[in-house]
Amino acid sequence: MAFEQPLPKSLSPSRLADFQACPRRYQYASVERIAQPASYATAKGRFVHYIFEHLFKLEAANRTIAAARSFVGAARENILTPQVREEIALDEEVESRMLAETDAIIERYFTMEDPRAITSEGVELRVGVTIDDTPLFGILDRLDRDDEGNLVIVDYKTGALPNRNYDAHTFANAELYAVLCEEKLHERPTKIRLLYVSQGETIEKNVSDVVIKARASAATSAWKKIRHFYDDGIFPATPSKNACRFCSFYERCREAGVPVAPR
Ligand code: SF4
Repeated sequence: MAFEQPLPKSLSPSRLADFQACPRRYQYASVERIAQPASYATAKGRFVHYIFEHLFKLEAANRTIAAARSFVGAARENILTPQVREEIALDEEVESRMLAETDAIIERYFTMEDPRAITSEGVELRVGVTIDDTPLFGILDRLDRDDEGNLVIVDYKTGALPNRNYDAHTFANAELYAVLCEEKLHERPTKIRLLYVSQGETIEKNVSDVVIKARASAATSAWKKIRHFYDDGIFPATPSKNACRFCSFYERCREAGVPVAPR
């Protein structure tokens, strides 16, 4: 059976993560483009990202906490659309909770770094490259230039902190952003900085040659498989506890007889 929908034009770090977790999830989300309703967590993530994006579009000297708070109204209008409100059942109580949590995040963020002292090379930076016939595309939260003149990839995280033995998954998306930056800008970012703004914690990692090569190779090999499964007309399901736990397609798979991992 061939797909009616065309093969996606490019592979992003988050779609690659979908594919690596379970190719069937990639099929549903990226090939068939089945809508995934917002959750409270995804809506809050977009809400907070909106505020930081607009804060960093200001001149450095104007990036104050008051300025950050001034974007809350626009975030409500642009992110909490009627559709999102319906999908996450946003009543007055839930909205007050989101606003209070966002305000706490803004306050905590200003204890983590001073945005007025940061040299930003780009915010919500869209980068597309082709490596070994693999079209890659990503949107970086922020690309900074540090005091030594090096590029640093910065990613905001609104979810929970990984445990202290954080694994390769924690940095996987950002490492692929490093591949994109190197290919596009002909300059390798030296560091990845993950800002866990809900907890006020920062996790950093240096970018190495090994990592760059491994991430590029994982992406190109995944793209070959994606093309192959696309031509076959079916992407295999690889259920696992981690993959199925928060998957939007759980019921769809269960009804189709896929042996999904119990929740
Ligand atoms: S529910 Fe599990 S098996 Fe089905 S698409 Fe999601 S991750 Fe894959």
